[in-house]
Amino acid sequence: MRENLSPSDITDLVGLYAQADFQQTRQAIQAAELAQPLWAAAGPQRRAEALDRIGTELLARREELGRLLAREEGKVLPEAIAEVSRAGHIFKFFAGEALRMSGEHLESVRPGIEVDILRQPVGVVGIITPWNFPIAIPAWKIAPALAYGNSVVFKPADLVPGSAWALAEIISRAGLPPGTFNLVMGRGSVVGQALAESESVRAISFTGSTSTGRHLMQVAGARLARLQLEMGGKNPLVVLDDADLDQAVECAVQGAYFSTGQRCTASSRFIVEKGVYQRFIEAVEVRLDELRVGHALHDDTHIGPVAEEGQLRQNLDYVDIGRAEGARLAYGGQPLSRQTEGYYMSPALFVDADADMRIAREEIFGPVACVIPADNYEHALDIANGSPFGLSAGICTRSLKHATHFKRHAQSGMVMVNTPTAGVDYHVPFGGTKASSYGAREQGHKAMEFFTTVKTAYTHA
Ligand code: NAD
Repeated sequence: MRENLSPSDITDLVGLYAQADFQQTRQAIQAAELAQPLWAAAGPQRRAEALDRIGTELLARREELGRLLAREEGKVLPEAIAEVSRAGHIFKFFAGEALRMSGEHLESVRPGIEVDILRQPVGVVGIITPWNFPIAIPAWKIAPALAYGNSVVFKPADLVPGSAWALAEIISRAGLPPGTFNLVMGRGSVVGQALAESESVRAISFTGSTSTGRHLMQVAGARLARLQLEMGGKNPLVVLDDADLDQAVECAVQGAYFSTGQRCTASSRFIVEKGVYQRFIEAVEVRLDELRVGHALHDDTHIGPVAEEGQLRQNLDYVDIGRAEGARLAYGGQPLSRQTEGYYMSPALFVDADADMRIAREEIFGPVACVIPADNYEHALDIANGSPFGLSAGICTRSLKHATHFKRHAQSGMVMVNTPTAGVDYHVPFGGTKASSYGAREQGHKAMEFFTTVKTAYTHA
């Protein structure tokens, strides 16, 4: 059993959750293997109805589930409710996609022969997720997996079993054949490892850190499993002299600090042109002063606690590293005490950072950002692209020329013009380049690429 404590108040016990062992994970994989042909044969109508039912319940219960999510993960209540709504919309979107799963029909280059390109389920899919979006990320993997006729073994992050349990309970009542969907809670090194090793798990969709992604590549990749890895980010926000300053500050603060900076798409590098550099920093500091850090369930909180003690320690260590590297800490970066004991810290802003510093290169995954000066647009683009990661990149400018150039040349899977690097739609592809992503894109219609396999059939009539 594992104690699930609220990061806003560590005396608040959210629940006690089971931890599966290797053998129990094997049992779940076997159940999924037996059920998968039944689910594939159930047809698109039944699959669409099941997914639609899940989506409807998530939407109807968004306040209640949002409260649970905020309590166990620490994001503020409005963000948590929005996340549950998003999960509901995702299930409804993929209910429609189940009906649109399509192949192609062509004439052969040889007379009398016809060619069908068929889309088929992959089989048993392992789904491994992080703690920062405890309902939305599982939803955007589970919904397409089920829509296209796969069975699922779902391993959530250890830190957020409550949200995973609530989602699984809803799915369990949606009319799937027993064994089609399996929740296995437990340690990554046990449950995740069992999924990575099992020959019966034909595909693994993973979101988490780059180091765990690389490990899965070595274990599951070595046995030629299909892999979809969504990993870390170090997302740049470029601010040019001609930007609307208020808009740029809002993009920066929203993108870097909301959700306590715990978003893979969070901006952590502000690359700012010289003419606006000082005014930008002053305006960000003013805006940060207005933000209240506190209990995730309190009405007046803008930024909740860090999700866990280890992550808080890591964030504060990076504040020390930044100082030692010679960047100037212009704002925050301190542990905070509140009425309840939790993992609170003030948002941190480093200025006069250098692109080579560790705080400008490594993913911190907390409310810590740095400002790097740039001579001009070309210099800013160079800095933005000089990262091992490539998830989301943003620019604030009024110049159509620079915005268009940036959209084409930013080395990232997602590009944002005059809007924060974090915050994406649920019906379009999501993913990155370089060390941020590996494999086919997630979400939207493109999700079919990963969750189906292509078969080419020749018929001589
Ligand atoms: P993590 O890599 O520690 O854990 C992710 C999942 O992998 C968890 O369920 C964990 O239990 C499991 N795991 C751990 N070791 C494993 C192993 N040996 N075998 C199989 N599974 C194992 O990541 P985290 O700390 O939960 O999440 C934070 C990270 O997630 C950050 O790096 C963040 O950027 C990333 N993230 C990426 C995206 C994206 O879409 N690119 C979205 C959200 C979070």
